[in-house]
Amino acid sequence: MPLQIVHHPDYDAGFAANHRFPMSKYPLLMEALRARGLAGPDALNTAAPAPASWLKLAHAADYVDQVIGCSVPEKIEREIGFPVGPRVSLRARLATGGTVLAARLALRHGIACNTAGGSHHARRAQGAGFCTFNDVAVASLVLLTEGAAQNILVVDLDVHQGDGTADILGNEPRVFTFSMHGERNYPVRKIASDLDIALPDGTGDAAYLERLGTILPELSAQLRWDIVFYNAGVDVHAEDRLGRLALSNDGLRARDEMVIGHFRAQGIPVCGVIGGGYSTDVPALAARHALLFEVASGYA
Ligand SMILES: [Zn+2]
Repeated sequence: MPLQIVHHPDYDAGFAANHRFPMSKYPLLMEALRARGLAGPDALNTAAPAPASWLKLAHAADYVDQVIGCSVPEKIEREIGFPVGPRVSLRARLATGGTVLAARLALRHGIACNTAGGSHHARRAQGAGFCTFNDVAVASLVLLTEGAAQNILVVDLDVHQGDGTADILGNEPRVFTFSMHGERNYPVRKIASDLDIALPDGTGDAAYLERLGTILPELSAQLRWDIVFYNAGVDVHAEDRLGRLALSNDGLRARDEMVIGHFRAQGIPVCGVIGGGYSTDVPALAARHALLFEVASGYA
């Protein structure tokens, strides 16, 4: 069976090409996956919008209602970085539903990936930093509520710290949150994860992979995890507009191999989400995101 991939054409909310958020990376990622032979009909699963009941496990009820009703206060929209109209609202629910579906597929098949997700700056009370709903936090709480998992590990390697995930899951002892990120990056005020590793500006492949290689065995020594959510943000790349770190494409591939290989060798299901990536060269950016799927397909 090929790698199970969750997607939806409406992950792309159709922003202007010059918007700070490179929305066109979603259709271009699908194009890249098709070109690599990874997006056949037996591989693709269509995301459904997350219902309010799931979203309210992680987010304040009034904020969920505001997003669904497209009535988010302007002050919060400014923190998110775009207005929440009907397409953004639908996109946020689809991306979240997509991560829940990918998690279920990972539990069934060992590994699955969403072509969106990793919206880790969305906190319980509201969205922020291009993140409307926190898909990984919602999916974790859905699995716990349904009894599909008891011990969950979040490995967040997006270059930005996973403040929203830490905020939502800080009081949930059944989820361990790990974030490795650039020390000087957004958010300025970080919310402590269960484990945070902050890297200096300019960290390259060798130092990055060495640090990661020491931490993964420590994480799996803690508990027998029922599932790992892996945020494979590619904004650690040297050519990322926001990242401040200096990984190469080979470094990205080695990182994904290290994480996925580590947990799959122990038979632990892995749910991959794409996380952040910011570049004006959007085809190159989409190719960076495609690396997660290339690596994951080797474990399907
Ligand atoms: Zn990021």
